[in-house]
This record gives sequence, structure tokens and C-alpha cells, in this order.
Amino acid sequence: MFGDTASYLKLGLSFPLPAEKIRAFAERVDVLYVVEEVESYLEDEIKCLGIKCIGKEKLPNMGELNPDIVRSAFFGTEPETVKGDQDMLVARPPVLCADCTHRGFFAMLRDSSLKQKVMIAGDIGCYGLGGADPLNAKDLCICMSSAPAIAHGAQKIFDSEREVVATIGDSTFFHTGIPSLIDMLYNHNRSNAILCVLDNRITGMTVQQENPFSGNTLQGMETLVISIEAVCHALGAENVRTVSPRDLTEVRKTLKWAYKTDGPVVIIVRWPCVLKKLDAEEQTQFNSEKILYVVNNDECTGCMSCINIGCPAISYDKEREVAVIDQEACIGCSACAQVCNLDAISPKELEHA
Ligand code: SF4
Ligand code: SF4
Repeated sequence: MFGDTASYLKLGLSFPLPAEKIRAFAERVDVLYVVEEVESYLEDEIKCLGIKCIGKEKLPNMGELNPDIVRSAFFGTEPETVKGDQDMLVARPPVLCADCTHRGFFAMLRDSSLKQKVMIAGDIGCYGLGGADPLNAKDLCICMSSAPAIAHGAQKIFDSEREVVATIGDSTFFHTGIPSLIDMLYNHNRSNAILCVLDNRITGMTVQQENPFSGNTLQGMETLVISIEAVCHALGAENVRTVSPRDLTEVRKTLKWAYKTDGPVVIIVRWPCVLKKLDAEEQTQFNSEKILYVVNNDECTGCMSCINIGCPAISYDKEREVAVIDQEACIGCSACAQVCNLDAISPKELEHA
């Protein structure tokens, strides 16, 4: 955008600030502009070093930056856009991966036949995606690890009028969710909040970092696996159950139990992330056989129940009015087969993943 009319200093590290590098760069240029997103962190720090610079005078302090915004801020030019037919655009909300086994859990959580008035406090990470259409299993999400504390506070307000459920991933739970659970347990009087820890044995959304529940250090060395169940029990949680999201009958039973239980509940929903490279023990524990599922067109009535679990591998054929499973994308979590009341979806063939 600025081409060779400007000099650039790209920082790979913002804390600790490479002060001398910035000072040396500033001495070589006529005007120093700071291009950073949202708040003026670098700009303020650089000014504190006694170096003149310009940042938020030109650039917005909200939202992400892109070339059009930066170009417009510096050159006053409006971006050229192509006007298209808005009706042709298909809404594509972000979704859980094809074969994310946790999708079935969200479908059950949203199922009003289990409980009518349920408020769901979500958290960040993969499981924030359970709140997007068509799963819609999230009413609010504020910040990392807030879900258990929100659920606890909201449950106190709602009393028995409404169930409040918190969903959080395993690494988020470990990171800062445990204090939130302590809040839930320690102040549990009149709070029956339900905490669901969706344990995919890895930090999924930020590209597969290990965490204290995954059995490896960040450097990939084998280490102690910290048990979520043991942590919950050690904190004083009495109502703790672990369930596989591949078994939706069991998930329904467990949610029913949680809704009826008096006092705080923790449900650990355990199945590895579909992108995780399983070690030998995990391959045995979590059956890694790959089963493709297909729709039997003679049985399918096009009721859309399977479509509504939001698996990217399933689509609806408008002409034939049936569901279709993309065999390249399906990895066989079986959630669609379990929600089809007509048994119109079944395994196709067995092969080893
Ligand atoms: S098509 Fe069905 S079995 Fe295949 S990944 Fe999607 S939900 Fe799972
Ligand atoms: S849930 Fe079953 S009957 Fe309904 S669209 Fe899907 S495959 Fe067809």
C-alpha cells in the first residue's frame, strides 16, 4: 500500500517492547506512524519512551484493520467495491468441524423437549461455535471462562424458574475456568447451575496446543494427565458425571439427571477433537474406526432434523427433497443417524482411519 515510499518496522514481539530497535528506527524516519488494531498500546508505550509518533489520530480504535481502512485513513480514498445481488448471498455462519462429535451434545442441549426454559452461557473457543445457527445453543458469551460464573449468578436470579447451563472447553476450563467453578461451588446456596466441560483432549481452535488434560507438554513431551473429574471432586463438587457425546441417548439421560439435581452439577463431555493425532492409548479408548454414513433416499422424508445439527457434510437436495451426505466430508460421528427418527441414515462401510 505504501510501497517503497515508506520504511517499515514490523514487530514480532510487543512485550517486552523492543525499545532500542524502535528508537533506532524512529531516528531514521521523518514521521513515525503506528499501525495497530484497537487500543493504542504500542503508540502509548512509544510516546512514553519520548518518541513522537502518530497512531489513533488517524486510525480507528475499534474493530479489525484491513487495507481499505488503512488506505482510507492515510490517503482519504474510498475503496472500490463490486455491487452484487444480496439475495444471491448464502448465509454461512461459522460451524463446528464436520465430525466434531460435540455437535450432538449441543443439539441435545438445545432440545426443548428435554427442558423448556434453559439459558446457555457459552465461552470462547470451539464451543462458542455451538451458538451459531442452526445449533443455537448459546444465549450469551462475555469473555474467557466467564460461563460458569455467569451461569451461577444467573441461576441465583432465576431461582427455579429456569435452568442455567454453562459450556466451556477443557483448555479454557483449565486456564481460568476453575476459579469460576469454585465460585459456583463455594456460593452454591440457591444455585443449581450446570457446568458442561466439553473435553476434546486438546486446545482445538487455536491449532492443537497441548494442555494439562492432554497428556503432553507444550514441547510435546509425555507428562501427567490432570483429571478434570479429580479437580472437580477436589473442589467439592458432588454431582459430577462423564458422558460420551457419541451416545446421544446417554447425553439426554445425563442432561435430564442434571436438570432434576438439586445443587451444582458438572458434566464432562469427553471425546477427542477430530483433528487431534491420537496416541495408541487414545486410539483404543476412543475407537478410531472410520465409518461413513449414507442417507437411504427411500426412507428419508426430508424432515431436516439431521440438517439442523449443522454438520457441513450434510446438505439438502431441493429437487429430490432428501438429505445428502458428502462422503468426502463425513468421518462418521453418527450424530445425524441418531437424530433421524426414521432410521434413514446408516453406516456404509467400515475402514480403519
Ligand atoms: S454426516 Fe453425520 S456421521 Fe457424518 S460427520 Fe456429519 S453428523 Fe457425523
Ligand atoms: S433426519 Fe432422517 S428423514 Fe429427516 S432429512 Fe435427515 S435423513 Fe431424512
